[in-house]
Order: sequence, then C-alpha cells, then structure tokens
Amino acid sequence: MKIAIYPGSFDPVTKGHLDILKNAAGIFDKVIIAVAHNGEKKGFLSVEERVELIKASIKDFHNVEVDAFEGLTIEYAKKHGAEVLIRGLRAVSDFEYEMQLSQTNSALCEDIKTVFLITKPKYNFISSSTIKEILANGGDISKFVPEAVYNYLTNKEKK
Ligand code: ADP
Repeated sequence: MKIAIYPGSFDPVTKGHLDILKNAAGIFDKVIIAVAHNGEKKGFLSVEERVELIKASIKDFHNVEVDAFEGLTIEYAKKHGAEVLIRGLRAVSDFEYEMQLSQTNSALCEDIKTVFLITKPKYNFISSSTIKEILANGGDISKFVPEAVYNYLTNKEKK
C-alpha cells in the first residue's frame, strides 16, 4: 500500500490544495493531509479549525485522511509508513524553496521521496495568503475556497 503525506499550513485550505489532493488521491492508495503546527507563527485559523474545514471539504474522497502534527514532516511520514510527500508547485517562485525543502528531507531520510504536482491553470494562482487579504478587505473569496471554508470564514468575519 502506497501512502503519501500532503503536509502544509492549509490556513485556510483552498481549491488549489484540493486540486493537488485530487491528483494525489488518484495516484496513491492513501493520502494523509497533515496540518503542521508552526510554533513560531500564529496562524489565522487554529490548527483545529483548519483540520475541521479540511474534513468538511473532502467528503467525496474515500482514501484521504486529515491529521495535525508537530515536529519534522519526515518523522511524521516514517511513523505512518509513508514513502511519499506531496507538495504543490505554482510558479517558479515556489521552486527554489520547494527544492531546498525536498533535498533537506531527502538528506534526512532518503527512502521518502517528494512528488510535486501542479494544479489546473484556473487554480494555479490561489494561495491562502491572498485569500486572507481579500477577506480582510471585504472581497469575494467564493471562487477560491471550498464551500465549507467560504461559509465559515464569511460568518467569522461578520462577528
Ligand atoms: P506551506 O506553509 O507548507 O507552504 P501551504 O498550505 O501554503 O503550506 O501549501 C501546502 C502545499 O500546497 C505547498 O507545497 C504549496 O506550494 C502547495 N499549494 C498551495 N496552493 C497551491 C496552488 N494553488 N497550486 C499548486 N500548489 C499549491
């Protein structure tokens, strides 16, 4: 059984993330979306909120699980018997960081490979940070995020 981990901040999960996930779920037997606790950076949403919103957005996927983790992604992957890490690439600007991250992870554990996936062009430009900016300025984020995220964030913003 080939297990892949899709690690990230998912603050919040977007249609870009879901498109990457859809591709990964078609390739691997099981995909675990792993929401990283980042000690230094206080997120926009709590890790628990992010996990709940991902759960609500992946109901159509039968081989996907969601979890949260702290510490090294590679250790989390080993613990779950995963051989693959999934990362998405948007533009050349992602490439340098992602390549460094992937090579660092390979140096830590050469048995775990990073697989890079690309979204459909219509989702390519979407990022969690631009969504937060649009939301903060009263814009419409419905095109960029799953329905559950749209409902949750627009209600939260009104409070
Ligand atoms: P991180 O903080 O670890 O970069 P993110 O939640 O921002 O976590 O993203 C997780 C992964 O998904 C990263 O590899 C990122 O490049 C990728 N990703 C995010 N949005 C898109 C998108 N629209 N198209 C392709 N990949 C994406």
